[in-house]
Amino acid sequence: MKIPITFLGTSQAIPTAKRNHTAVLLKYKDETILMDCGEGTQRQFRKAKLNPCKITRILITHWHGDHILGLPGLLQTLALNNYNKTLHIYIPKTTKHYIDLIFKMFVFIGKIKYEIHECGNGKILETPDFYIESKKMNHGTPCLAYSFIEKNKIRLKRDKLKQLKLPNSPLLKKLQQGKNIKYKGKTIKAKDVTYLEKARKITIILDTKINPNCEKIAKNSDLLITESTYADKEKELAKKRKHLTASQAALIAKKSKSKKLILAHLSQRYENKEKIILNEAKKNFKNTFLAEDLMRVEV
Ligand SMILES: [Zn+2]
Ligand SMILES: [Zn+2]
Repeated sequence: MKIPITFLGTSQAIPTAKRNHTAVLLKYKDETILMDCGEGTQRQFRKAKLNPCKITRILITHWHGDHILGLPGLLQTLALNNYNKTLHIYIPKTTKHYIDLIFKMFVFIGKIKYEIHECGNGKILETPDFYIESKKMNHGTPCLAYSFIEKNKIRLKRDKLKQLKLPNSPLLKKLQQGKNIKYKGKTIKAKDVTYLEKARKITIILDTKINPNCEKIAKNSDLLITESTYADKEKELAKKRKHLTASQAALIAKKSKSKKLILAHLSQRYENKEKIILNEAKKNFKNTFLAEDLMRVEV
């Protein structure tokens, strides 16, 4: 089963005709996880033919407008559609007053149930299949990067089970736990009828100045998504405004031994000149791609 990721918005602070404010959607089994929610995100859902009512969790990196202006509209739509789950919203520590303000400021028609989780460095949620970690970034306002980490799974070789005529029974569970079993007087070794399905890791680093936590959270990612606001010649500006350049993003990918890098959150100044960004990044990390609105990738 592949993990689909849809880029709903890929622009920096000022959206363009081609690029909407930032939002990225990850689907995994029953979970639909939205990462950031810039202005117009709910219309991007319609364009991508995705249903916002499927959202189970929203991860917010920080409270700059280009990452959250779509929240009131999206919440309104969920309320109008009788959203009946509890929506879990993850935000940086010390910023709960912002989300409280949103719920106070807008007169929502209808109500939704929600839970706010303030996060710092560490594991922010865990299910039997995966967990999510966050780490603090350096962006002048509380800001987090997130990693989605699947757990390693031991799977059964169905064809082998068939050969051995092993029926569905609690014995299968034992094999999955790595234990050998006895069936009809014969020993069946777990290693002969199981295989390890390697877990996948997806990391998203948005607005930040380069800092040691970038490499730490990105470590061994199958897919790393980062902001790439500026090209090298704007290096000083990137430092001042606490953003990454394309080659810095690529260095994070290289040092963290990530497998693939997708650059998002592009400045409008590179509209139709995105190749500059891409080529600079590729010098440090070959397997780099540029995000586009409504682009879908699978991990
Ligand atoms: Zn931003
Ligand atoms: Zn920002």
